[in-house]
Amino acid sequence: MTTFASLGLLDSLVTATTALGYEEPTPVQREAIPVLLEGRDVLGQAATGTGKTAAFALPMLHRILESKVKGRTSGLVLVPTRELAMQVSEAIHKYAKGGGLSVVPVYGGAPMDVQIRALRRGADIVVGTPGRVLDHINRGTLKLDQIRMMTLDEADEMLDMGFADDMEAILKATPSDKQTALFSATMAPRIAAIASRHLKNPARVTIAREKATAGQIPRVRQVAYIVPRAHKPQTLGRVLDIESPSAALVFCRTRLEVDELVETLSAHGYRAEPLHGGMAQNQRDRVMSLFRAKKVDLVVATDVAARGLDIDHLSHVVNYDVPSAPEAYVHRIGRTGRIGRTGVAITLAEPREHRLLGNIERFTKQKIELASVPTVADLRSRRLDVMRASLRERLLAGNIDDVRVIVESLAEEFDIVRVASAAVKLALEASLGEGEDKEIPTVSVSFKDRGPAASDRPKPKGGKFKARARETEGGGGDKPAPKRAYVPAGPTTRLYVAAGRIAGVRPADLVGAITGETGVQNKVIGSIQIADRFSIVEVPEALANKIIDALRATKIRGKKVLVNRDRGQKPS
Ligand code: AMP
Repeated sequence: MTTFASLGLLDSLVTATTALGYEEPTPVQREAIPVLLEGRDVLGQAATGTGKTAAFALPMLHRILESKVKGRTSGLVLVPTRELAMQVSEAIHKYAKGGGLSVVPVYGGAPMDVQIRALRRGADIVVGTPGRVLDHINRGTLKLDQIRMMTLDEADEMLDMGFADDMEAILKATPSDKQTALFSATMAPRIAAIASRHLKNPARVTIAREKATAGQIPRVRQVAYIVPRAHKPQTLGRVLDIESPSAALVFCRTRLEVDELVETLSAHGYRAEPLHGGMAQNQRDRVMSLFRAKKVDLVVATDVAARGLDIDHLSHVVNYDVPSAPEAYVHRIGRTGRIGRTGVAITLAEPREHRLLGNIERFTKQKIELASVPTVADLRSRRLDVMRASLRERLLAGNIDDVRVIVESLAEEFDIVRVASAAVKLALEASLGEGEDKEIPTVSVSFKDRGPAASDRPKPKGGKFKARARETEGGGGDKPAPKRAYVPAGPTTRLYVAAGRIAGVRPADLVGAITGETGVQNKVIGSIQIADRFSIVEVPEALANKIIDALRATKIRGKKVLVNRDRGQKPS
């Protein structure tokens, strides 16, 4: 297996990738990093989402850190938009953590004086849009005569936005012996022309095409949702609620993402377990045996950890991020729909990753349906269906006479249908999760409009048809912000309560007993899972003993019950 260390990067950079939860380099990183470290120019074809930022940023940082020359601008990255300038500089900042280097983004639409002050303080790496970078050069506030390495990121976009002349002028202002990397999603003739003028004997980096024949691509329903990053955790919860997977494998890019998502999904009521390279083999085996025994609904995994797993009962494969190469997508979704079963492959893509979906469609020659994020109304109607089914089951099961007297007494005053409706309403309200009454902003993907809303000096060329995603609301901030309303802060413990569905225990009973007996607040109680004969409640570790004592001392559904720390049992 190729690791970041085996690519020849400095230890501090390898440590940074580990800290970010990256388990192994993506294909474009595997190919580009070694050649860039050798000092060669690179002409790369890779779209957003493939990990190309790290592919050029890590070698850039490596060279600057190695040269031990700080405080003068040695690295320059040109990007088409302001968002990308912010995002790339933030990424470089993270990779450079602790290295003492400064990264300064410069883009149009932001106050000049702030950027000038930042540049004056010393910028080792400048990330900017062409128009604003040129402005700074002309004002004398940015000097490029010490540049050792330069990257043109999303070069095709920059050309489409009319930055060709600015790019040429900037390239001319840099030393001719610098190293240059040019990345572009397409290799149009105009890109080839720039490359032939400015790159010296470049190594071509195209994401290697593994052989995946059409026969290997399963016939599964493929659906994608385009959502801003900040709304992904909530969207996934909703999509899963609607899809009701019996067993799903959810793929994430990093260990950190795996851990966060397990927390969010558990809080959402799913039995979810993590699987990543940071776990000991026996922990992973435990998760897999629980999954095979159907005691876990969802396994959230990185590609590395899921490699070689043999699971054949998957109803759904979920790509929490678009995989960095079409082959990885095929590999992942090939895990569902096996042996004549129908499977579903769900992909969540950020607006700027829509291009990757197109690449995948071209590779698989299959359509990915773009679906709308379930609305509050969809959830409601789904919940009503579930409620109706549960009520039927309850009616058929009987054993409801203990509450009959309430219904009868109310029926003297109200119409019986209204009484029943109020009861259903109460039950629905009790089952409503945090944020489920709020809409998630929809993102429309149009195939015409490519207005460069946030770039400096836009000079769009009309008449070209390309996909561009635009958020209707909320702006896709890149910070994952999982809803954790029901997840207590700090370490938690699962409590095993020896009474479950058969004893009539409902989440409200457990919450009532805990809050009533201990005075702790409702919101510190984490996920609650009710099995036939027992329940599991997640509580803050700091309060666990107090809650255990209180629950042992009280009665739940009229009975004293055994309460302990959970030793790994999960509801079935
Ligand atoms: P990019 O294509 O550079 O915009 O990167 C897309 C996303 O992939 C970013 O969120 C990165 O943090 C993430 N990423 C980059 N490299 C890796 C890696 N080797 N493993 C996991 N995630 C990565």
